[in-house]
Amino acid sequence: MLGKSPAWQDVDGACSGYLVEDGDACLLVDCGSGVFSKLRRVRDYVDVDAVVITHMHADHFLDLIPFACALTYAPRQQPVPVERWPGTDDPARPQLLVPAGATEILRTIASAGGQPYLLDQAFEMSEYDTAATIELGTLGVRFQPVPHFLPSNAIRVHCAAGGRFTFGADHGPTDALVGFADDSDLMILEATLPRPERDGPRGHLTPGEAGEHAARCNAGRLVLTHISDELDHDWALTEARRSFDGPVEVAREGAVYEV
Ligand SMILES: [Zn+2]
Ligand SMILES: [Zn+2]
Repeated sequence: MLGKSPAWQDVDGACSGYLVEDGDACLLVDCGSGVFSKLRRVRDYVDVDAVVITHMHADHFLDLIPFACALTYAPRQQPVPVERWPGTDDPARPQLLVPAGATEILRTIASAGGQPYLLDQAFEMSEYDTAATIELGTLGVRFQPVPHFLPSNAIRVHCAAGGRFTFGADHGPTDALVGFADDSDLMILEATLPRPERDGPRGHLTPGEAGEHAARCNAGRLVLTHISDELDHDWALTEARRSFDGPVEVAREGAVYEV
């Protein structure tokens, strides 16, 4: 767990970022504000095989910019020897899997810095088909569109050894996870709201609603994420436990969950 804050960071916290590892496979799910720094604390960023972005809200992708800068300017990425680094003809270039339409959005953002192709050059970027399964070493990744203020995709990861993990991304109340996420060993669900939105379309869940979703999917275990340090965690757990009777906890940066 690299970052669990909602769209505004906790004190010393980072927004959405989850590192999934199985054997040699290393997948970063979301790369929100502050995540690149947290990633560097636990892994060398050149060892990330792929980054997958659930949706194009800043708290889920903004640290792709510093990540791309590192891949571009880090001394070890250069073609010639620099300082203690020997130079390389084969610099790290992780896959970057983004939702439909995101390539143009990222080029527009990078254009503001005068380098529209910064991310295209740093990463091997492609837009994923939500109907496809992506294989990354021993990991299989599937997608499920979920209702949010813009297109958002829940992600389910299967390990070859059998573990199943679902991250709901950001979403309002939905039936879309039923079937898709059924029997996940671990569900990480957002629990943003102290209470349902005042008006307009639903875009997020309360902790109680996260518990209901986990119960309907028969999750083995629930972790509440996208939750502010301004919301009392004991209250959130009590709310989630009203409908989910399995193990539940509030996400913590640096925590490791084994499935
Ligand atoms: Zn978010
Ligand atoms: Zn969002």
